[in-house]
Amino acid sequence: MCGIVGFVGTEQAAPILLDGLERLEYRGYDSAGIAVLSEKNGLQVRKSKGRLKVLKALVDGGRTMDGVLGVGHTRWATHGEPNDINSHPHLSQDSHIAVVHNGIIENYMEIKEFLLSQGVEFRSETDTEVVAQLLAYYYRLSGDLMGSVYRVLHRIEGAYALGILCSDLPDAFIAARKDAPLLLGYGEGCNFIASDVTAVIKHTRDVSYMEDGEVAVVRADGIQVYNAMGQPVEKTHSFIDWDVSAAEKGGYEHFMFKEIMEQPEAVRKTISPRIKEGRICFEELKMTPEEIREIGKIFIVACGSSYHVGMVGKYNLERLLRRPVDIMLASEFRYADPLVDEDTLVIVISQSGETLDSMAALREARKLGARILSIVNVVGSSIARESDDVLYTWAGPEIAVATTKAYSTQLIVLDMLGMYFAEVLGTIDRGNYDAIVSELQALPYKMEEVLENKETIQYLASRYFNHDSVFYIGRNLDFALGLESSLKLKEISYVHSEAYASGELKHGTISLIEDGTLVVALGTYVPLFDKAMSNIVEVKARGADIVALTTDSKKEEMRKTVENVLTVPDTHIILEPSLGIIPMQLFAYYVALQRGCDIDKPRNLAKSVTVE
Ligand code: GLU
Repeated sequence: MCGIVGFVGTEQAAPILLDGLERLEYRGYDSAGIAVLSEKNGLQVRKSKGRLKVLKALVDGGRTMDGVLGVGHTRWATHGEPNDINSHPHLSQDSHIAVVHNGIIENYMEIKEFLLSQGVEFRSETDTEVVAQLLAYYYRLSGDLMGSVYRVLHRIEGAYALGILCSDLPDAFIAARKDAPLLLGYGEGCNFIASDVTAVIKHTRDVSYMEDGEVAVVRADGIQVYNAMGQPVEKTHSFIDWDVSAAEKGGYEHFMFKEIMEQPEAVRKTISPRIKEGRICFEELKMTPEEIREIGKIFIVACGSSYHVGMVGKYNLERLLRRPVDIMLASEFRYADPLVDEDTLVIVISQSGETLDSMAALREARKLGARILSIVNVVGSSIARESDDVLYTWAGPEIAVATTKAYSTQLIVLDMLGMYFAEVLGTIDRGNYDAIVSELQALPYKMEEVLENKETIQYLASRYFNHDSVFYIGRNLDFALGLESSLKLKEISYVHSEAYASGELKHGTISLIEDGTLVVALGTYVPLFDKAMSNIVEVKARGADIVALTTDSKKEEMRKTVENVLTVPDTHIILEPSLGIIPMQLFAYYVALQRGCDIDKPRNLAKSVTVE
């Protein structure tokens, strides 16, 4: 998620590590730290919550830490709030091993319990600390460092990029990766690891990318890489000819595009730790099954795209739970004298966890006696702190103002919460439950499939980008999807657009449809496909240009009426918006690109809205 950098050479490591971390700052982070190993002072760790400049001041720009070998880290908290203790590097109890980690160790609880039973004492609340402690534990038993590293990697589950220092290994550090980015940089008389090329580009453009399961031993005079079985591997080198700004965006032109492309990964990280043996589990949820059964009503409160997540949630939760689910914009909720009481569960959704309107709504709901559950991306944020329960989205930092991966992960968490409640309430049958779980697991792959077919969307955007007004129409979940699709277009391309429930067209908006009006017709909600088709015919008869979105299974039928058809794979009906949103984000992106807009920083908008 955030940043790792490692260096070994002949120069003092700490200033180089700090410089590398500075270059990774753009990725977003909440704390930073470095560990350096020297003959004279052994393993030294300095870390702190907050900006890198705090850490820099602490170590006088690195000058106070001697040693030519070290690792650095910027953290985006997932387990344990951002504070000095939870910052990385993490040390083993005997302080012989230091670890930096990006990602999530899914089974950390079980490992922590095991180590606690063995008398190991933990300092932090992080998932990461188990890696340092388990490695020290195995190493103490066997005296074989590399063997112990492999034992740890076989035992931990989840996603990780790791940088490991051991005081018994004075001339090297160890790196490992699975499902989190990590590359090796080859310098002259020095070598590096880093989360991305920005951190090393000043020193070298000769890099290779670590593959899942690989372990590297990095020395000043060379890097030896091993595969998951411990056999040596020859790496293919790549030469980076990007400039720094392209490198920050992973070679893409905009952060928004990069974040669109990161969605399968983000969604995978949100889903995978929460499915165990085919069941959805939220270990972080304090609410007991009795308390879930006592919920009389659910009220979803949010702003912007999070509100649109809530719209999908209203349809899906009511379907799954057969309980009333209300939804209101946070800015309206606080002044609406809402019908909320002790039996109400208020779900607050916010990427930053600092959205002022949502915070105020939360406090209003609290005053009225409701129980509060929040879905947020930033650990330890205000909304997270003031909620009874928090479910984190683990999307990693989002830099583009227009949300993409945070939206997608919020949607998944809400769907999974619905499933979890439905199982407790007994409102879902086993067959349907199993079908949804298996589709949830397939979802990241299906998202990748959608992303592979970008060209058609790009073509359609180049054909229609100069329209001044666009209508998104759809029914049920497609209506909710239309709301977010329309907002994406408005936010970044400044094209006026409206989302309409298709059945509502005839009550007004259809009068605005004329020759050449662009209508994006959403037809992924298969149970109402025929109804969607009738509405498409209506607008077509009035001269609209139509871009339709449907599922693979309905493609041929759609093509009989519409020339421009985009498709997404079929999945369980409640999950279809998670696929449908991707072509719509891309459409907005390509339209904005054609119109020459400042995509990552649209005018007048802020990432985190902390004013009323
Ligand atoms: N899961 C780890 C933590 O919360 C690592 C987070 C990161 O990727 O920065 O400390």
